[in-house]
Amino acid sequence: MRSAREVAEVLLKALEDKDLQAGLDRSILNSIPLIKGTLKRNPYIEDLAKRVKKAKDEVLGNIEYYIDKTMDNIRRFKGVAHFAKTREEVYKILDEVVGSEKMVVKAKSMVTEELKVREHLIERGNEVWETDLGELLVQLDKSKPMHTIVPSIHITKERSAQLLRGLGFNGGVEEVREMIEFVRRFLRERFVKAHVGISGANSVDANSGAVILVENEGNIRHVTNLPNIHVSIAGVEKIMPSYIDAICQAMVQAANIGTYPPTYLSAITGPSSTADIEFIRLYGVHGPKELHIILYDGGRIKVLKEGIFADQLHCIRCGRCQLECPIWQLAGNMWGGEVYGGPMGVIWTAITEGVEKAAPLALFCLNCGKCKEVCPMDIDIPNMMSELKRYYHDIRTS
Ligand code: SF4
Repeated sequence: MRSAREVAEVLLKALEDKDLQAGLDRSILNSIPLIKGTLKRNPYIEDLAKRVKKAKDEVLGNIEYYIDKTMDNIRRFKGVAHFAKTREEVYKILDEVVGSEKMVVKAKSMVTEELKVREHLIERGNEVWETDLGELLVQLDKSKPMHTIVPSIHITKERSAQLLRGLGFNGGVEEVREMIEFVRRFLRERFVKAHVGISGANSVDANSGAVILVENEGNIRHVTNLPNIHVSIAGVEKIMPSYIDAICQAMVQAANIGTYPPTYLSAITGPSSTADIEFIRLYGVHGPKELHIILYDGGRIKVLKEGIFADQLHCIRCGRCQLECPIWQLAGNMWGGEVYGGPMGVIWTAITEGVEKAAPLALFCLNCGKCKEVCPMDIDIPNMMSELKRYYHDIRTS
């Protein structure tokens, strides 16, 4: 187990990182008023959040039933359903479906970060590109996402220009518009050539197996539509009991990051198909010919049964608790585990990397309660932080 001193050293380093500090200041200044304004203009989001929480209670209380039901319905609509208990099982599926020497385009997704999907596929000899602009910058920077929705807040425009130069960008550091145009052209070629598109899922409907994806850039549409094969990876906690509930979850998430309505909301049920000739349904038309959906456990089911961190599985990964947390405001996701950071990230670290990893992080929680106050799912993070602090104390004094 890391000591509190080791965590403190990382936090102090974060305080000295000028780019990170500038990025955090700008993000906080811009995001919080934007989110508050969005929620004020759309007061019904609060009711939708309550509906989503109730729906999640239903699924999390009967997780095995809902996993089976989702898998049956993915198959009913001609998708290929997979269940993976561990990271190794996900890799095995990816090795079979993707293989090697393929061009792979990826949508931003925290579960694929958790699984290190990009790194694994590159290791297998594939060419892999993140297609969310922020996540592409994180890929080029070889750093970790600094926020659940806005991963590149620690990368300034100067650093962005420098990173893109490695791909052939020759514009100036002030020319953000030019950078976007460059990335648009660069990725367009890859979208067209890609064999496989990999996405996460904002939610998955148990009744149809539909994968719901929300975005603003338009890259997810290309990732999930242009390659012959689409692979979607979702934590089992993303399952929702109905199509409407699944869409509501995406809406609540978008509103709580201040981008509501989102530019694009995609609902994908099975591979592309047509019945235009004599009503005979055939699969694989303009969109993917194969759709694989991997439902990933990764310790979540055990957590549900044990109870202590089960509340966190209601999380819709809006990242609002991060933006409002006084420690995250100073250190971003440097206060966190390998992937997840901030208040939600400390608990997700306990779930995905173990309590030993998360406990020393929890010591730096001020217990101000802001994370619970703003969380649309009313997740009791302070209570779970106290459990981690207690664990740290017990281990150190036993
Ligand atoms: S814990 Fe709550 S506020 Fe934080 S990311 Fe999850 S749903 Fe959003």
